[in-house]
Amino acid sequence: MTAPIRTRFAPSPTGFMHVGGVRTALFAWLLARQSQDGVFILRIEDTDKQREVEGSIDQIANSLKWLGITWDEGIEVQGPHAPYLQSERLDIYKKWAQKLIDSGRAYADPYTPEQLEGFRQEAKAAKRPFLYRHHRPENPPVWDGTQPLRFKSDPKAYTWTDAVMGELAADAEAVDDFILMKSDGFPTYNFCHIVDDAEMSITHVLRSQEFVASVPKFLNLYEALELTVPTLATLPFVMAIDGKKKLGKRDGAKDILEYAKEGYLPEAMMNFLATLGWNDGTEQEVFTASELVEKFSLERVQKSPARFDEKRLLWLNGQHIRALNIDDLYERVKDFWPVSAKNVSDEKKKEVLSLAQDRLKTLADLPVLTDY
Ligand code: GLU
Repeated sequence: MTAPIRTRFAPSPTGFMHVGGVRTALFAWLLARQSQDGVFILRIEDTDKQREVEGSIDQIANSLKWLGITWDEGIEVQGPHAPYLQSERLDIYKKWAQKLIDSGRAYADPYTPEQLEGFRQEAKAAKRPFLYRHHRPENPPVWDGTQPLRFKSDPKAYTWTDAVMGELAADAEAVDDFILMKSDGFPTYNFCHIVDDAEMSITHVLRSQEFVASVPKFLNLYEALELTVPTLATLPFVMAIDGKKKLGKRDGAKDILEYAKEGYLPEAMMNFLATLGWNDGTEQEVFTASELVEKFSLERVQKSPARFDEKRLLWLNGQHIRALNIDDLYERVKDFWPVSAKNVSDEKKKEVLSLAQDRLKTLADLPVLTDY
């Protein structure tokens, strides 16, 4: 028997959840759900206090709940690796940082920001990439927590296998002495996600393409910490419909919960997100959640960026509305009836609804279609 899959979604609380972020969560969830005793974890990466946006943790949780993406360990539900908020795990990171200091693989960064900027300018003038390790101090001071703590890297070229992208390679330039602990006492993402993924026995790390260039650094740190590297899976960007740029607010990247208000069904949204860069190899387009759990595989996630096509979402929503039985549909449209329907009986409303069902694209179409 293969060991159960353990995946995590590890968002930073920096605002609302848009399609790209939720798709990452969905793929990680599908993978865990198709594994016997699989576990899906919701961990909050709140170590960058400057970027934090109030209320986003609740929004993240509510977005996942709306879609039916349930988590087995994490914030709210807790679990054997609690706490699941990184800002409450500082002692754990300190312990791991100490390990690296003890083995000679971490040192205090003695430079002022001005000195660092000087090194950067030098590199720029010489037209070579800036690498901190070229300025590694000979006798760094003892780390007292007020300086950044840096990783003493062991630069080398890497080739590795990504479960989506296939064989990847990078030369030694991609490995540098990055910061592990910042002078504000918080760890960097580069450091603490590796610690947490190990502590939480994560088997598969699914994350956005924006992190792929950092993987050589991570591999170097895994070695220094003597940790096994989990399966890494890079999810290609979600692009605007023109395919030219990353999906931004202007091209429809909005809070996923807005779609609920606009009369979209969570199952249609799940279907839409799952097929943003994945298909099962057949012509099938409409999938239920359990079909997705059964059929999803990382091997069939496409390597090239997916395009965000809101018309397709609308079409899928109509398909999923049609698939509901009338009682279920009746429950879901409760908030969408026009005022004129206030005194109409349940029975009559259901009758009207079954006539309108075939033409509803969103639940919010109801007032228009039932204007009697
Ligand atoms: N905290 C990172 C983010 O929000 C997560 C990246 C990861 O999954 O490792 O983008």
